[in-house]
Amino acid sequence: MVTAAAVLSLWAGISVSTHGFRSDTNPLDNLQASPSDTMPAAAPETFRQAQALETESRSEEAEYQTLPMEKERQSAKRLQVGAGDTISTLLGGLGVSARDIHQLLQAGSEASQLYRIFPGQVFEVSLDSQGALQRLIFEESAARSVEWVRAAGSSGNEFVASVKEIEPERELSYASETIVKNLFVAGQRSGLGDEIILRLARIFRWDIDFVLDIRAGDAFEVLYESEYLNGELYRYGEILAARFVNRGKTHTAIRYVDEDGDSAYFAPDGTNLRGAFLRAPVDFTRVSSGFSLKRRHPIFDRVRAHLGIDYAAPTGTPVMAAGDGTVITVAYRSSSGNYVEIRHANSIETRYLHLSGFAKGLKQGDRVAQGEVIGYVGSTGWSTGPHLHYEFIENGRHLDPQKVAVVRDSAISDDERIRFLIHMDPLLQQLNHFGESHTNVAAAQ
Ligand SMILES: [Zn+2]
Repeated sequence: MVTAAAVLSLWAGISVSTHGFRSDTNPLDNLQASPSDTMPAAAPETFRQAQALETESRSEEAEYQTLPMEKERQSAKRLQVGAGDTISTLLGGLGVSARDIHQLLQAGSEASQLYRIFPGQVFEVSLDSQGALQRLIFEESAARSVEWVRAAGSSGNEFVASVKEIEPERELSYASETIVKNLFVAGQRSGLGDEIILRLARIFRWDIDFVLDIRAGDAFEVLYESEYLNGELYRYGEILAARFVNRGKTHTAIRYVDEDGDSAYFAPDGTNLRGAFLRAPVDFTRVSSGFSLKRRHPIFDRVRAHLGIDYAAPTGTPVMAAGDGTVITVAYRSSSGNYVEIRHANSIETRYLHLSGFAKGLKQGDRVAQGEVIGYVGSTGWSTGPHLHYEFIENGRHLDPQKVAVVRDSAISDDERIRFLIHMDPLLQQLNHFGESHTNVAAAQ
């Protein structure tokens, strides 16, 4: 319970400070920089040689010529992937022939990973005295490595792969915090990373507008798994249960994996938290200025007068489709500026005005999914500053999007209800147990 202990000490140190949204980094940047998204599928075969690599490989070659075969393993060379490296540049830099690299890349399904390597990953390479590749270990992550060994049999021209995986140790962690400034500041104070906070917000984003609805005094509790490798935090696991108190109302989420293996978050009564429309169709992590907890956006109080909600946000903030639907308008009009209209099921339409630009290629007739980026906040048309004007229309009538009843995905089925309850009970007990100990500590200060 490392985290819980850390959280307890932080809990005692909460100070009330002035309002204002954080404006430095965007946690989405970190999240979205996941390796798999950034690398090209096939790397150019340039055989670029880094200088350090070149020197190392020369001395290595000299060594190989004098070493007997059984010492080969000891002379394995470790290489760390640098920016712009490909498997070809790395191995080519050691003098491995294009033919060997080609054979390696043909060696079964595991080899396809070698096209997508990332800075920081490590290779261990063993060559024979002729400089032919004998063995390659790819340390993909702290938890997983793949080894290729040249097969002795047949033509001797194949590489056989074996995978080593270390199962991380899982630990249940708990954190809670009361929001004073904003969600991310509270998240940091609670010892949680932005990633967990973002996931927490995503669990509740059909009920809570994380741009306009968060108030000082709101609070959250999270029960989540931490994964440790060799005693060090390797990564966060799933959020198993969470509570979010927003403006006095408590929302509870339980992660449940059904008998088909599908996971979703449910309220204790079995209601699915996922709904047909996001409360806020704007990337709240980017909303860094223009709002504060104590000073509401002036136009917000006149929602009914102007038939929509305004989200003041920096120009360029991604605007998302609030629900699945079909794009019916992508256009410019002097009053609305650049705007998008989406038609959804059940005679519902949503509109997004004053955009600085549209998502690339977006056009009338496109199907869009909930959460898909359709454009970017701007100040085009009759607008006094960058903001998104968002409208929700049902059967031709404008509704306040914050007050529309949530149409939910399927609840826990009758068949699974008992199983769900058996799963939920200990999680709720854990939440309560941790929550009480925090309260006691806070009260004792
Ligand atoms: Zn407006």
